[in-house]
Amino acid sequence: MKYNSPRIKILNKKTILKVIHENHPLSRSDISEITGLTPSSVTRLTKELIDEGYIREIGTMGKNSPGRRRVLLDLKKEAFLSLVFDIGVNITTYGIGFFDGEVELRGTFNTPKNPEEFFKTAREIYERISREHSITRISFSVPGMVDLEEKKILLAPNLGWENVNIEDLLEVDVPVLADNEANLSMLAEKYHSEDLRNVEEAVFIIIREGVGTGLMVDGKIFRGPSFTAGEAGHMTVNMYSDRQCHCSNWGCWELVSSINWAIEQYGKELEGRNSIEKFQALKQKNDAKRVLMRFAENIAVGIVNLVNILNPELVILGGEVVDLGDSFFSIIEDFVRQRALKAAVRSLKIRPTAFRNISSNLVGAAVLAVEDIIEKVR
Ligand SMILES: [Zn+2]
Repeated sequence: MKYNSPRIKILNKKTILKVIHENHPLSRSDISEITGLTPSSVTRLTKELIDEGYIREIGTMGKNSPGRRRVLLDLKKEAFLSLVFDIGVNITTYGIGFFDGEVELRGTFNTPKNPEEFFKTAREIYERISREHSITRISFSVPGMVDLEEKKILLAPNLGWENVNIEDLLEVDVPVLADNEANLSMLAEKYHSEDLRNVEEAVFIIIREGVGTGLMVDGKIFRGPSFTAGEAGHMTVNMYSDRQCHCSNWGCWELVSSINWAIEQYGKELEGRNSIEKFQALKQKNDAKRVLMRFAENIAVGIVNLVNILNPELVILGGEVVDLGDSFFSIIEDFVRQRALKAAVRSLKIRPTAFRNISSNLVGAAVLAVEDIIEKVR
């Protein structure tokens, strides 16, 4: 095969887009250094990518240094738009995802109980939004296990959805993507957080009506051959428990670390139409401190197991616990440092997610679309 064959050229263009996506913004010499492509190839290929509308020049760096000024390149934000949905057990949020992985919120609706109705609503939103914007992907964050290739929700236990084929129900003419909410949260952090730039092993734990984990191993999201990797909510933390989980096993971690556990333990009437609102009310109560302390310990038990198994450098917590403050996180931190293997916690950091005003998994759904667009560059 000739060096300048069209196939190699496409591969090189994809590589350049990937490194810009992962490390943006970058200068041409940074790209050359990271990819190993010659400076002249980088100049030629980035020119093509600019002409084709994938990337753009966003200014210069090094103005005040004696060296040459370098022009920085980034993905062109508005080049490709996706419609992204965060399917919550009670409330679904949607927005527009941009090619640089940013998301603009557009609305929310109550999640219909049956999947047919849900995807009919999603189609109507797509039809409405695509009248003003050219949407190239629709991407879903799912609170459950998803077969990425078949676009099938294998099981979303808290929704009661099983074997739902998204494309069949959605019936749209654009490519559809979907993944588990914790995997997408991990993906969003990987692309947007500075402290993950040089980290290969990390865990994202999402605490909502259920508990999910997204695993990053060797710098990639680890999904497993049948897409069930990271279902740590269903690891057994009490083998003598008489409480059965909706997964059919007993004593799962999720039974003591989802927001439903805290609401039940609090035991008193809480305002709110659903468990998310009730948990928000609980966080304001002065007499809920003890319940929240035990809640932190229950969450920490699962983190100890994950840390011992995976030896991650970073454990990120997301979902409904992110605003619980330093005292909540220091209970978790202390518990994990006491109980996990000493060598496993040596380089460990635990922090809440960087995403506050927008959910990490919704951003992840946009990142999934960006990855797919880059993968399909021809
Ligand atoms: Zn379970």
